[in-house]
Amino acid sequence: MYSGDHFSDPAASQPSTPAPPRPKASKCPCCGHHTLRPTARAHRVCRYRLAVLTLPTRLLVPTCSRCKHSILSFDSVPELAATLESAYRAEVVHRASVEITHLGQFFSQRRIEREIDLSQGYLSRLRAGDGVPSAALVSLLALLSNDPQRLEELKAYWALPLPAEPSPPKRKQDA
Ligand SMILES: [Zn+2]
Repeated sequence: MYSGDHFSDPAASQPSTPAPPRPKASKCPCCGHHTLRPTARAHRVCRYRLAVLTLPTRLLVPTCSRCKHSILSFDSVPELAATLESAYRAEVVHRASVEITHLGQFFSQRRIEREIDLSQGYLSRLRAGDGVPSAALVSLLALLSNDPQRLEELKAYWALPLPAEPSPPKRKQDA
């Protein structure tokens, strides 16, 4: 029995403000009931590139109201690709800003820029949310932020020559 009778009769609603049509239900591949509908929900997470991202609540993902099965794919959610790319960029920008702010308690931005070969003012711009850094740079900033003294280690690393590689074993000239 259909229990949606709390919805107003479409014929009785004002013509100027029609209620949005209820999304058509399709068959849930998990439980087999026709209870799969595009559904907004908070706290959906999705791994994208190297990050686990929280998707916007408004993103409509086919979800079963009965068994909670959801189908999060590029086919089932046409705007997923653009949403993930946008969320990823925002995440990278935000994480860079947080790590730069934290590292600023230990070093001047200019010093960090010098030691990891960034142009002057770049960290300041990133901290302000201006520009999208590479995930590799954010990863480096996160490692340094967790253990700031390792900036000295990097300085020493680049100052010293690499240790000589062990020479390959000489091939015996038999014959
Ligand atoms: Zn289901």
